[in-house]
Amino acid sequence: MLSKALYQETCTKAVKYLEKAGIVITEAEKQRMEVAEYGLDMLDSIGLELIVYVNTERCCAKELILFSGQTCPEHRHPPVNGDPGKEETFRCRWGKVYLYVPGDPAEKPKAVAPKGREAYFTVWHEIELNPGEQYTLAPNTLHWFQAGPEGAVVSEFSTKSRDPYDVYTDPQINPAQERKV
Ligand code: ZN
Repeated sequence: MLSKALYQETCTKAVKYLEKAGIVITEAEKQRMEVAEYGLDMLDSIGLELIVYVNTERCCAKELILFSGQTCPEHRHPPVNGDPGKEETFRCRWGKVYLYVPGDPAEKPKAVAPKGREAYFTVWHEIELNPGEQYTLAPNTLHWFQAGPEGAVVSEFSTKSRDPYDVYTDPQINPAQERKV
């Protein structure tokens, strides 16, 4: 659980990253920024900051901020109630992000699995996204991503987010309690 002080410090830092990316948000959005730490208390290595712009029955858009070394842990978005599951597009706006999906594993991956949680990072096909580059994931595809050395700002466009249904590889992450991306 994040302390209020750490939450506020983290949000202040995330807003600076958005400024570097030239992304303007309102004061109200700053107030409702979220810090995902996945209940692991490893925010420096497993965690990210986000703003949800919209999440309707049909579509969702978010801004994701990852500081250097921060990782979104491996997960997938399964079919729910006849819906095939969430389709996601990640577009790098600033910095660099390494995205991992099923496929030929990178020989020398640029990301490093967070210490102590290595077993829960199982897909290693590497996609490097630099500003202006994007990648679309089919529903139910395992994925995880990590910021490059300077951090990253990533826009996410998707079908509806149904966070509690998401499936994390790490059994300690409880999706009913955590917002996911
Ligand atoms: Zn996802």
